[in-house]
Amino acid sequence: MPLNISNSYLKLGAAFSQQSLPSPVVSPELLLWNLPLAKSLGIKFAVPEDNDLIAQYFSGNRLFERSEPIAQAYSGHQFGHFNPQLGDGRAHLLGDIKDENGNVWDIQLKGSGTSHFSRSGDGRCALGPALREFIMSEAMFALGVPTTRCLSVVATGQAVYREQALPGAVVTRVAASHIRVGTFQFFAARGDVESLKKLTRFAVQRHFPEITVPVIDDTSVNTDTCLDVVSSENVLDFFAAVLNKQVKLIVSWLRVGFIHGVMNTDNTAISGETIDYGPCAMMNHYHSDTVFSSIDRNARYAFGNQSSIMQWNMARLADCLLPLIDDDENVALAKIEPFLKQFANDLQYSYYLMMANKLGISDLCEGDVELVNDLLKFMQEKGMDYTQSFVTLAANLNQATVDKVLVNDEGSEDEWQQWLVRWYERIADDVNAAKKLMLQTNPQVIPRNHHVEAILATTQATGDLTNLDEFLTVLQQPYEEVDNTYLYQDAPRDGDIGYKTFCGT
Ligand code: AMP
Ligand code: MG
Repeated sequence: MPLNISNSYLKLGAAFSQQSLPSPVVSPELLLWNLPLAKSLGIKFAVPEDNDLIAQYFSGNRLFERSEPIAQAYSGHQFGHFNPQLGDGRAHLLGDIKDENGNVWDIQLKGSGTSHFSRSGDGRCALGPALREFIMSEAMFALGVPTTRCLSVVATGQAVYREQALPGAVVTRVAASHIRVGTFQFFAARGDVESLKKLTRFAVQRHFPEITVPVIDDTSVNTDTCLDVVSSENVLDFFAAVLNKQVKLIVSWLRVGFIHGVMNTDNTAISGETIDYGPCAMMNHYHSDTVFSSIDRNARYAFGNQSSIMQWNMARLADCLLPLIDDDENVALAKIEPFLKQFANDLQYSYYLMMANKLGISDLCEGDVELVNDLLKFMQEKGMDYTQSFVTLAANLNQATVDKVLVNDEGSEDEWQQWLVRWYERIADDVNAAKKLMLQTNPQVIPRNHHVEAILATTQATGDLTNLDEFLTVLQQPYEEVDNTYLYQDAPRDGDIGYKTFCGT
């Protein structure tokens, strides 16, 4: 038995999930197996000898010993409108495993059939979006962005029917947990304070063990995580810890030009991992209004809105936690509101620090915010590519050039030249250190939409995974120029005009 799996979430009780078995598929075939991830999780299959066995397990046809699959309950604000009843309609949480460092990871099948929460959906996932999630999440991981990851993609041999018949697949997702803002909302909407406390204690013990929850010596309960005991201090500490995670998440997205596309509260993980890759895309030329998602008609989740949307989502989480902080809602509000204010400040500070890092500046001083804003304004006006611009600025950066430009600075009228002089003056003290920081902060390559789509099209048309593997090899080393990096660095000639993404998986 190659996986030591249990299901700690199931133990929280019937209100949290429904036991549900994956629906078997006709002819599972392993297409992608994430070997480094499998190794880091201590999952020991021999590849390719065990491919058929892997396909059986990670299609849901065969269950690991002691696996008790569940579909998790959650609610969510979708495009600002609250839906009290969502939940895993096409996913099964097989359970959780511990890696060699003692970290716990959820193992979830997606596209594995219907559950209690499916409503009218078929519980299935098409192959294209499954491969897309694998590519995008691996790229994000290598870029240093907190993210859920894909362990495998298994073709089912069955068609799924969207607007047309498409090949089906099951993708296995690995996450620190699948607890969402919407999970808290599910219980808050039902006035179920006991479950909210249980969920908070569980989330604290899973994600923030540094927060000390009250110890209860009660042998009648078989697991500590299932208790509904948290202090109001625990709840505030928990909230602060979640906010810190979201700062890192959003700033990482903004650093690499990622647009999530559907930042509903059910797609916002408490762990601060990027989750639910459906309609995501990458920005090419810099414009804060960039949107590709076909369902985001009002540009709610545009590139430049992601920071304020995360503040809105965290305010919804705060709403849920109020009854755990004080019986008097006004007292609870007064205690939690400063955290949201601090969050807004932290986001802004971390954003500008990150942007300064992109320019080789390691700490924020007076004038840096303007330096960044002026660059972005220029980039937006001129339609400059976000990734390439920083790569080029770093590539051309050397002591001789900086000295030359600064010596010859005779009050040029040229807007770009003026900006360059200001920037060079700022980093002139240590040009080498600036360059080093830029190379660490700015990727050489990102999973550009036109390349992702081209690779998906050829892979699905030919069934040949060679191009996809080559693409992944490049994306897994985004800060280096490896043999084939140059093939994937170009911006789309048409600027991705008309490109649309869909919810997909
Ligand atoms: P998403 O847009 O992927 O975040 O999903 C929103 C909700 O719709 C979740 O409750 C999903 O489980 C559910 N859902 C999406 N697609 C399907 C499907 N094909 N079958 C059943 N439920 C689905
Ligand atoms: Mg979702």
